[in-house]
Amino acid sequence: MKGDGREGASTERPAQTEALGAALASRLQPGDVVLVSGELGAGKTTFVRGAARALGVTEPVTSPTFTIGQRYEGRVPVSHLDLYRLEGVEDEDPALLEDYLRADSIAFVEWPQAAAPALDRIAARVEIRHAGGDRRDVEISYG
Ligand code: ADP
Ligand code: MG
Repeated sequence: MKGDGREGASTERPAQTEALGAALASRLQPGDVVLVSGELGAGKTTFVRGAARALGVTEPVTSPTFTIGQRYEGRVPVSHLDLYRLEGVEDEDPALLEDYLRADSIAFVEWPQAAAPALDRIAARVEIRHAGGDRRDVEISYG
């Protein structure tokens, strides 16, 4: 991950949120972890889908439902975690996250709070907020 700082943008369509994900993806390297926060329906998975596409993932990118995460094959391996149902990592098997947070992979984590103590190599934090209708405010901080 190159560069530090903070960027804000407003989107009016899902495709624009995907494009922001794609732009972020171009700055990522294997081992990087991206935290994606926001309410249900904010567009976290939409953002991750755009990033995953840009990383060469061709299979459908949807929110993991029955597992905490999914692995995709792209030009680099991509992990997509959704920790909505996870209360905290303290009580969990440490191996739970290990399959996803790997040095060879780029990982995107929705609802990251529960795993905060276990997440290092955080390259970027993405915060998405509803701003009325289809408008979303997307803030990305790096480093
Ligand atoms: P989350 O993962 O945060 O729960 P999703 O990405 O699964 O959210 O869903 C976002 C929903 O909002 C989708 O139905 C998407 O089509 C819709 N949507 C409408 N406008 C936007 C926008 N500007 N950016 C992202 N999603 C949008
Ligand atoms: Mg989601």
